[in-house]
Amino acid sequence: MLGSRWAAPNGGKAPGTHILVTHYHWDHIQGIPFFSPLYVENNEFHFYSFRSKFLGRDSLKQVFEAQMALPYFPVDMSAMSARRKFKEVDGGDSFTVGENKITARWLNHPQGCLGFRIETPAGTVAYATDNEPGDAKMDESLRELAAGADLLINDAQFTPEQLETTRKGWGHSSWLEGVKAARHAAAKTLVLFHHDPDSTDRMVDSILRQAREEFDSVFAASEGMVITIGAPGDPVQAHMPGTRTALRREAQFHAKVCGVTEGGKDFEEETVVRDISLQGALISLKHLPRLQSELQVTMEAPGGDGVQSMNLRGYVVRIDEGPEKGHVAVGVVFTD
Ligand SMILES: [Zn+2]
Ligand SMILES: [Zn+2]
Repeated sequence: MLGSRWAAPNGGKAPGTHILVTHYHWDHIQGIPFFSPLYVENNEFHFYSFRSKFLGRDSLKQVFEAQMALPYFPVDMSAMSARRKFKEVDGGDSFTVGENKITARWLNHPQGCLGFRIETPAGTVAYATDNEPGDAKMDESLRELAAGADLLINDAQFTPEQLETTRKGWGHSSWLEGVKAARHAAAKTLVLFHHDPDSTDRMVDSILRQAREEFDSVFAASEGMVITIGAPGDPVQAHMPGTRTALRREAQFHAKVCGVTEGGKDFEEETVVRDISLQGALISLKHLPRLQSELQVTMEAPGGDGVQSMNLRGYVVRIDEGPEKGHVAVGVVFTD
């Protein structure tokens, strides 16, 4: 959880932390009472959100209070000792936080959702979760938020087929609509976000694979992923701590893997591939390859006439904690 990795800026002293809240649906607020930095006295938080017509003034403050009312939570608001300030923002508003300029725009979602454009000295990030394409005015808002952005973080909950049929009107988007918006707005990197809870990791891999065929720089967001905007002209970098699932199925293929580490060094390593499908594999490695970098995987596969060698090219989509000490489980999607 973010709360356990979070470090207060300047050791918890001013200028504090600023949190942009897009809307009040459960999936966007249910982590708040469990966010441990809110229970540390010297921390200061500034929350930005809109006035909901269902809640009126101080909407977000009311949400906090309702979430922590008994018997929904073991302690009440008085235990939340960090300083909290609430600021109301509306679609169309612009404001500054330090040297960053933030612009809010309405997106197409039931009961409303704000998208944010964050212009920093290092680059621009557009955060547009929970939006469904098809409303001309709000489609334009999305393009304004994403115009020339280094990073567009966009809703990719449904497949393009679902979006056209069974999930039309649910207020979400697809990887294809994200690619279209990124292209139209000339955004440099697209991050697919807000995955469907029913999508397995493999389905997300498959969505990423399709998006990557249409757009050069795409990531599928995952828990713990940290994305750094590089200097102008440099590609963005993504890192993921190895803290997720272990291997799932048993198989035994000896393989040689060549790739690039997080530090940018070439490596070559012999390993055993234990989980493989037509689309990809989970490979246990001692090296930590860079996310989205290319890997060459040469596998020995038993064939009709003895052992055959199979040469596959793939790229790194996930890094999980490995089953053996000192190893990481690297999720690879094959490109040929
Ligand atoms: Zn929502
Ligand atoms: Zn949502």
